[in-house]
Amino acid sequence: MQDAALAELGLGGEWSYEAIDVAPDALEARVQAMPGEGFVGANVTVPHKAAALALADELSETAREIGAANTLVFAEGEIRAENTDAEGLLRALPGSPSGKRALVLGAGGAARAAVWALLREGAEVAVWNRTGLRSRNLCEELGGDPVAEPDQGTFDLIVNSTAVGLGGEDPFAELPLDPDGFSADQDVVDMVYGAEPTALLRAAQAAGATTVDGLEILVQQGALSLGIWTGRKPPLDTMRAAARSIRR
Ligand code: NAP
Repeated sequence: MQDAALAELGLGGEWSYEAIDVAPDALEARVQAMPGEGFVGANVTVPHKAAALALADELSETAREIGAANTLVFAEGEIRAENTDAEGLLRALPGSPSGKRALVLGAGGAARAAVWALLREGAEVAVWNRTGLRSRNLCEELGGDPVAEPDQGTFDLIVNSTAVGLGGEDPFAELPLDPDGFSADQDVVDMVYGAEPTALLRAAQAAGATTVDGLEILVQQGALSLGIWTGRKPPLDTMRAAARSIRR
C-alpha cells in the first residue's frame, strides 16, 4: 500500500517502506538507530504502540491523550510520536458521528483511539469489553460510559475494536451482539482486517446497515502517516487498491 503510493507520487526510487519485526526488548535500540540509517519515520503496531510513546522526545496531543502512537517521525535529531488511528477511523466513517449514540467494543489500543475520536466529534459513547475492569478504566481516563450488557438496537454506530474475528472466531459467541440484531439505520465498523467481509459485517450488511471494514481504516491511517512523512497528498485510491489486492 505504502510502496504503491510512493511510486504514484514519483518517490519510488528514493523512498521505500519495509516491515521490520522487533521484539519488545529490542524496540528502543531499533528505533534509536533508524534515523542514522536514513529512515524518516515508522509505523508502529501491536504490541509496541504504548512503548513507542514512551521513547519519543515529543508527543502530539492526540498520541498523548490516547496513550499510544502508531506513527513516529524522525526529524531534527528528535523522535516525534503521532497517532493516526483515531483520525483514520473518523475518515473511514460514512458521516460525522456528532450527536450519535456509539458502542465501542474493546479496551485495547484500537478501542482507545476509537473512543477518543468519537468523543472528540461529539458522539455519546458506551464501551463494552470482555474484561470489564479495562473498559471501566478506559472510560475513567478518556470519557464514555462502561456498559456490561449493551442493547444493540439502541446504537446508531457500533465499532468492533476487539481482536475477535482476526483468528476466525465467531463474533456472536464472543461479543454482546446478535446477528439478527442489526438494522438498516445503523453504521457498523469492524476494525479487524483480513479475510473480508468478516462475519460481523456480513450480518450487518444482511440487515441493510452501512458497514466499514478494517482495511478502509488501515488505508486511511496509513495515508495520514504517509502525508506526515512526505508532506505530500497521499493517493488514497491507489493505496486502497493495493491494500485490497493482497487481501488474505
Ligand atoms: P489489543 O490492545 O491487544 O486489545 C485486544 C482487545 O480485544 C481487548 O479489548 C480484548 O479484551 C479483546 N479480545 C481479544 N480476544 C477476545 C475474545 N475472544 N472475546 C472478547 N474480546 C476479546 O489490540 P488492539 O491494538 O486494540 O487491536 C484490536 C483489533 O483492532 C485487532 O484486530 C487489530 O488488528 C485491529 N486494528 C485495526 C486497525 C486498522 O487500521 N484497521 C488499527 C488498529 C487495530 P480483553 O481486555 O478482555 O482481553
